[in-house]
Amino acid sequence: EQTAESHVFEADVARLLQMMVHSVYSDKGVFLRELISNGADACEKLRYESIETPSLLAADPESRITLRLDEERRQLVVEDNGIGMRRDEMIEALGTIARSGTRAFMERIAENKAAEGAQLIGQFGVGFYSCFMVAEHVDVISRRAGSEEAWKWSSDGKGSYSVEAANLVEAPPRGTRIVLHLMEDAKTYTSRWTVERIVKEQSGHVPVAIRIIDKPGGEPVQITDGTALWTKSKSEVSKEDYTDFYRGLSGQYDEPALTVHFRAEGRHEYTALAFVPGTQPFDMFDPERKGRMKLYVKRVFITDDAELMPRYLRFVRGLIDTADLPLNVSREMIQESPILAAIRKGVTNRVITAVEKLADSEPETYLKFWENFGPVLKEGIYEDYERRAQLMALARFHTSASPEGHRSLAEYVKDAKEGQNAIYYLAGGSLDQLKASPQLEGFRARGIEVLLLTDSVDSFWVVNAPEFEGKAFKSITQGTADLSQFPRLDNQTPPEQDSAGLATFIGFAREKLAGQVADVRASDRLTESAVCLVAPEDGYDRQMEKILQNAGR
Ligand code: ADP
Ligand code: MG
Repeated sequence: EQTAESHVFEADVARLLQMMVHSVYSDKGVFLRELISNGADACEKLRYESIETPSLLAADPESRITLRLDEERRQLVVEDNGIGMRRDEMIEALGTIARSGTRAFMERIAENKAAEGAQLIGQFGVGFYSCFMVAEHVDVISRRAGSEEAWKWSSDGKGSYSVEAANLVEAPPRGTRIVLHLMEDAKTYTSRWTVERIVKEQSGHVPVAIRIIDKPGGEPVQITDGTALWTKSKSEVSKEDYTDFYRGLSGQYDEPALTVHFRAEGRHEYTALAFVPGTQPFDMFDPERKGRMKLYVKRVFITDDAELMPRYLRFVRGLIDTADLPLNVSREMIQESPILAAIRKGVTNRVITAVEKLADSEPETYLKFWENFGPVLKEGIYEDYERRAQLMALARFHTSASPEGHRSLAEYVKDAKEGQNAIYYLAGGSLDQLKASPQLEGFRARGIEVLLLTDSVDSFWVVNAPEFEGKAFKSITQGTADLSQFPRLDNQTPPEQDSAGLATFIGFAREKLAGQVADVRASDRLTESAVCLVAPEDGYDRQMEKILQNAGR
């Protein structure tokens, strides 16, 4: 009978453990992700070593991670059949923290950023120790692949650990078993429902199959199959697979309108899988709504909080998986990474190209896309200077000529009148209100098409987008509408003007409305109505004035 050898943690580890347990209150479930990701790493290392030494893998070639739940004894076991650890590796890996990340982690926690703690654990690569958030005692029993020996590491995470030879009959034949003796308030991690939910959510695409045995003597049930869908080539994935995957990812039960899946090679290596939903997400205009693209590094989930798509594509769901970033990439690194900026650009281009293709080849289907996401896409016209022309070309409009239809700007320009150098628009209100506007009368009478803009974003991009194919955007509620050069369709010439009478009337109106309007003028823009309000040439148009008024200006 051998006695266990006792070791003291390096000072840093002891402090780290205390901080972790006491600072990270929410989201303790991340410990599962950390243990599973270590198990998956161990399996990948073994696969790599077995390239040289096939015998290491021979006896049991299938990588797997097994979770065993024991409610009665309040135990959760996470076991893998990966590379395993020798005695010295255990002491090195679990007893010291050599990584520079540790210090940074502790500094952040000490800076009172406790709320972030759970995220920091993954980012700074101090993963293993997170199990002490939920366990009062942890045993690690491990056998290095190819070795006869097995070792057991034990600790309560309070300052010391012990290492002893493990019982060879009970030890795993290969790999590592981590036994968590759970704290009273962490017994939920013996519930199959809880564990399965967390695993699917956090580790559903870990490249090793995960099984669960929900009670002692129970049968193992596979909960994830270990193949990351996006790593397959397009031809191997059926439409149904994509749809299932999209549904799992988005929690929406519609069919994706577009699926963009590609692998980029060359300067940057990454795989992207992106979906445009078939229906509009309910919170698309919620200012809090973030992008919904997940970032993976080598198939390990890192964050869904990195802005991997421009805001005007915030309805796109999916993921980017790259081998060009380190696994312990931090939030700051993500934000500033030129690699990610390049990847973001590449993926954005591909998504927009797919949208363009849809517009070309399936105009009917495209209109549905446009109805759902046009109002968001149009934000890109003023946010993304580089892609402005592309986005303008994708835009579709109701117009005075075709109030129920969807006209493109190219069509508008093609049908413009001889000598017409502006794209006229009327913004604000419902389509019915716009159609009934007296401001349209003079344009209708001359067969000049006017865009009817009903989305609130419209007032912004039209002033920020100076032109399309050489024609400026011009609000018909603003400035003078010089329509005299365009003949009326009915060939009627406006009745001879009584210029003296008109001058008298204008003088009268100016006097009566002094202080309320800047000027009163005769206009070509009306045919039936007697008067309308128009905004000055150099200010905001009528709709923009209203928006600013509502905003308290
Ligand atoms: P990281 O995974 O970022 O290296 P962790 O704290 O999660 O940091 O793990 C520390 C180290 O412990 C790992 O690098 C690995 O060497 C070792 N280790 C942890 N879990 C396992 C396991 N299941 N199998 C083999 N080695 C492991
Ligand atoms: Mg780890």
